[in-house]
Parts: sequence; C-alpha cells; structure tokens
Amino acid sequence: MSSIYFFGECLIELKTLKPNLFEQSYAGDIYNSAVYMKRAFPALSVNVITTVGTDAFSNEMVERFSHEHLSTEWVFRSKQKIPGLYHIQTDASGERTFNYWRNDSAAKQTMDFFKDEHLQQFTKQDIFFFSGISLAILPEEKREAFWSRLKKLSDSGVTIVFDPNYRANLWSSTEDASTQIKKAFAHACIALPGVDDLATLLDLHTGAQVAEFCQCYELQELVIKNGPESVVTVAQGNTTEHHITPVVKVVDTTSAGDAFNGVYLGARLSKQSINKAVQLAATAAATVIQHPGAIIPLTAFTDAIHAEL
Ligand code: ADP
Repeated sequence: MSSIYFFGECLIELKTLKPNLFEQSYAGDIYNSAVYMKRAFPALSVNVITTVGTDAFSNEMVERFSHEHLSTEWVFRSKQKIPGLYHIQTDASGERTFNYWRNDSAAKQTMDFFKDEHLQQFTKQDIFFFSGISLAILPEEKREAFWSRLKKLSDSGVTIVFDPNYRANLWSSTEDASTQIKKAFAHACIALPGVDDLATLLDLHTGAQVAEFCQCYELQELVIKNGPESVVTVAQGNTTEHHITPVVKVVDTTSAGDAFNGVYLGARLSKQSINKAVQLAATAAATVIQHPGAIIPLTAFTDAIHAEL
C-alpha cells in the first residue's frame, strides 16, 4: 500500500476569544492537509515529516497527530528548539490579523534529521508532499540537502507533489521565492497552485495563465485552485474547467486550500477519477470555510465528505 509523507511545519495556534482569553490549538498547512486526508480516507497511511522539541507543547502536538491517526514515526525531536507559534486576532468587522513567532522553530531543523538513509524506506507507490511554506522555512544552507534528497526520491519513483502556498513575509525577496518555487515546479509530478499565490509572486491572474506558465514543466497532473471561481485541471493532454458552487456564508477561509489538497490527493490515491477527486476536495474546502479555525470538528467534516463518497 502506498504512503503519503507531508514535509513541513505545524505551529501552536493562539486565537483571541476576548481580551486576555486565548484558545490554543495546532495548525500549519501540511498538518491541515494530512488531517483532512486521513479523516476522508482512513485506510491511507498518512505521515508527517517535521521536527518538534521536547517541551510540553511539542508532546501535546505529537499527541494531536496520533489523535488524528497520523503516523509520528517521522516526527523528529530537537533538544534545543521548540515549535513555532502564531496568533489570530479577528476585529469587529471579521478582518483577521496574523502574527508569527516561527523564525527559530524546531521545524526549521528538519533537514538535520531527515537523512539519506531515511530515503530507503520510501517505495515507488509513495507520495512526498511539500509546499512553498515548507521551502521558505528551510535555512538557506539546508536547501541543497533538501533538493538533493528530493531528487533521489523522484529518481526512485516517488511521486513528488507541490503547492506553492506563497507567503511573502517568509522569504527574503520575491526573486529568491520565485527561483525556489520554480525549482519546486521542476521537481514536481503533481502541482496544486492557487491563483492568488501566483498572482502576487509571478503576475499570473487566471487559471489559464497559470496553466500556460506550467506548460514548461513535466507535470503529470496540474490542479489550479481559484477560490469560488473554478478549479482547472490539466492531465494527459486534457484541460478541464470544474465548476465550484460558491459558499453563501463564508466564516473563515483558513486552510481551504490545505483541505482541498489533502482530500484531492487522498481521492487520487484511492483510485478516484480527477473529476471525482475535485468534487470531493471542493466539498471538503467548502465545508471547512463554513467553520472557524484551520481544523474543524470531525463530524462536521466527515458528514459532508461521506455524503459525497
Ligand atoms: P488557496 O487557499 O490555496 O489559496 P483557494 O482560495 O483557491 O486556494 O481555495 C481553495 C479551494 O477552496 C477552492 O479550490 C475551492 O474549492 C474552495 N473555496 C474557496 N473559496 C470558496 C468559496 N467562497 N466558495 C466555495 N468554495 C470555495
């Protein structure tokens, strides 16, 4: 059976409920995708490759992973570092502000632990997923090791999947981000870009422009997310525009793209067609944005997905 490995960072999340009262949980793009994939497709083996510390938050974070039935075999422990943290504040008009404390997080150390010998455990059926955030948090001196291990995985037949998930404040410059993200496209078999991300980074504003930009890469499958507008897929020479039913009352768009990615890939791994995978992924994303927070209550999610399966 194939396994999927999500490489990147999970953070401590703090949300202000009212002055001086916070709700604390855990979130991060690759973690969110892993959770939603496993919830929708429990038979799949879903792994997180990251680094945490040895502190109480780290222990609770790893317990959360286990609670969500994610494999923690590839969660490394740093004796010196602790997890990154972010805070969400929502003002009276619903506008959200995010602040991050992640510059010295344990997850930035993952390439110190994720060595060549680990690559032998991957098989040809496996999937390795990383995002622009996974890339952005890597210290510059660790990038070479990352690209070298990614190439070895790719050469051994592992399917490499990438979502640019561009966050400008995590990069030293747009030139650097653009170079690294283009390199990631060049390594990927499957790419799941959001139009919004590439609009700010590469001046691409429509699904068609993103599809044209991606023509120079050897992608087996390209899935372009464009909010409520549409999803465009390109695979085996076929370009398809999929209709998205807009959600009337959006509560919180956090992790819409992450939920989409997890469920889309889970569906494809479970031998569903591209059309069905998009339909399930869009249902997942539409459900997630009707609830507050990155990770919504289990039954709200599974009820919506099971109705479509
Ligand atoms: P990202 O979060 O990666 O930038 P999008 O904003 O395109 O990606 O959102 C991801 C997916 O969430 C979309 O492909 C779509 O399925 C769903 N989605 C986002 N906004 C809406 C909306 N207003 N109504 C319905 N679905 C939405």
